[in-house]
Amino acid sequence: LVNKKFHPEDSVIPVGNTHIGPGTMTVMAGPCAIESREQLMETAFAVKKAGATFLRGGAYKPRTSPYSFQGLEEEGLKYMKEAREATGLNVICEVTSAHAIEAAVQYVDMLQIGARNMQNFELLKEAGKSGIPVLLKRGIAATVDEWLNAAEYIISEGNPNIVLCERGIRTYETSTRNTLDISAVPVIRQKSHLPVIVDPSHATGVRAYVEPLAKAAVAVGADGLMIEVHPCPAKALSDGPQSLTFDAFDQLMGDLKPYVELA
Ligand code: PEP
Ligand code: MN
Repeated sequence: LVNKKFHPEDSVIPVGNTHIGPGTMTVMAGPCAIESREQLMETAFAVKKAGATFLRGGAYKPRTSPYSFQGLEEEGLKYMKEAREATGLNVICEVTSAHAIEAAVQYVDMLQIGARNMQNFELLKEAGKSGIPVLLKRGIAATVDEWLNAAEYIISEGNPNIVLCERGIRTYETSTRNTLDISAVPVIRQKSHLPVIVDPSHATGVRAYVEPLAKAAVAVGADGLMIEVHPCPAKALSDGPQSLTFDAFDQLMGDLKPYVELA
């Protein structure tokens, strides 16, 4: 069902008050983790002002260490809904369990399945049954075909509203957190009708590389970007080193304008 052979026109996915797909450039921005009501609200207004149309923020955090901050869970989802009502932004949150999906559908416009859960088939089926749009990130070491099969799990449960997100894959290179597989964008374009966005924040893990790779993503024809932004990256409870300040994000959005118009 995700194969372009049987569905030659590119899909445009309705989400919240907007659409994601060809002819659009969706920018999802916000903190890695929702840390407090104030932190989220402040970030929501800043990214909205800079031109983002989605607020991202994690309430259920899949952390490498069990001793790291795990997220505010349902309290965080409530702040997301509040931020959406205050700003008009669409909101997206990662879900890590069937229980989280049940909670999240009451508060957000789109579910995110993270890289670590790309092959959590039971979770994919639940996301398929949820009936709300899903952003499916590429697994840490997944091939494009494995990623498309993961999308097939969602669509085969009756949910066609899927957007793919390239977020870097693990390679032998250590100067970046992951290696952004920019070629995945044209490869997906050829194999599937689903939209594909790029996350240069998790791909690089380094703030200074977010801007050039965001530009590369637009140049290669991505349908959007996901970027981590924090009011004070040095104090962030997760992913501070890759998070942009409000000023840096605003500058990036300004810089992207001519590229977006060309796209
Ligand atoms: C995230 O977007 O916060 C996240 C954990 O990303 P990924 O699943 O790509 O690592
Ligand atoms: Mn993160």
